[in-house]
Amino acid sequence: MVVDALRSAWISGGPYVQRLERAAAERMQVAEAVAVANGTVALELALRGLGIGPGDEVIVPGFTFVAAANMVLSVGATPLYADIDSHSWLLDPDEIDRLATPRTKAVLPVHLYGNVADMDAITSCAKAHHLAVLEDAAEAAFSRFDGKCAGTMGSVGTFSLHATKTITTGEGGLVVTNDRDLARRMRVLRDHGMRQDKRYWHDVVGYNFRLTNLQAAIGCAQLEHLDDILADRRRIHALYRDALQSCPGIRLQHFMDRVDPVLWVIAVLIEDTDLSRQRARRDRIMAAMLEDGIETRPGFYALSLMAPYGAPDLPHALAASAGVISLPTFLDLTGEQIGYICDRFCHHIRNAG
Ligand SMILES: *Cc1c(COP(=O)(O)O)cnc(C)c1O
Repeated sequence: MVVDALRSAWISGGPYVQRLERAAAERMQVAEAVAVANGTVALELALRGLGIGPGDEVIVPGFTFVAAANMVLSVGATPLYADIDSHSWLLDPDEIDRLATPRTKAVLPVHLYGNVADMDAITSCAKAHHLAVLEDAAEAAFSRFDGKCAGTMGSVGTFSLHATKTITTGEGGLVVTNDRDLARRMRVLRDHGMRQDKRYWHDVVGYNFRLTNLQAAIGCAQLEHLDDILADRRRIHALYRDALQSCPGIRLQHFMDRVDPVLWVIAVLIEDTDLSRQRARRDRIMAAMLEDGIETRPGFYALSLMAPYGAPDLPHALAASAGVISLPTFLDLTGEQIGYICDRFCHHIRNAG
């Protein structure tokens, strides 16, 4: 497919973009998928498609990969920062009632590490406040909640096809929705705001958020292997859960029974009652792992810790920020390697003071 795309005269746009959109929509059982250049502009396109801009507020989690907050700010809207649930580490639905004002237009749950937020509670709270629901499902592609794919339960959902993500085109993204009018608006905005039936005619101000045909061909090829990719992720998840069971002083991210996750990365919380001690221990454990040749990653910084966001301190967001470590999660990890990683990890936890 990739060679075919290379040989074809189509560089940008072209048949593989449509093929990727159709295949992704089919696999996720959603009406429409719109392919874009990356997962960040996917968020921007979704926000702009919903008509969100200056004067509007959007509820975002205070612990998240930063793109969600960045894009809310980028369209000129005001983020309202919600705390996360202390078990799932995802947007706490009760925060919607606490934060929503008459100016609030949307809630933007971010499904981190393969987990899915409580979409039942979020969609019903959102409905009560007349909010759109925008799911950032970049880290939860093909994870399910009550059998439905992450990203397909709200008004609109976004995905990243970055090299680190479950399905990748190097750089790339997808926006999915069951709202055909919204999909039509987003397709126009993606391509400079140009009318699809009248070349160089613009009724709205648009952008260039397009994905190339070549990248889309890579995405199509990946989707054909999706079942193998998902099986590998399930295998790795099960091995980690087993190997970490007897490790003291840690908590794994909690998945609701209604969630059937596709693990993106395995994330573990180092427990501690004191935030600065927790962060220092976490960082010592990461340094010790690196000396063993094992690269780990910290959780995201709570947005309240960083100047551009003007976010309030939120207790659970701060605890996740100080305590989360993610362990290596790549598809050709063997059981033996996972055993070694977890042995070293548990050893350092016992010895990190
Ligand atoms: C990766 C990621 C994004 C951004 O995607 P890009 O393709 O890198 O722009 C957005 N949100 C979350 C949660 C992500 O993990």
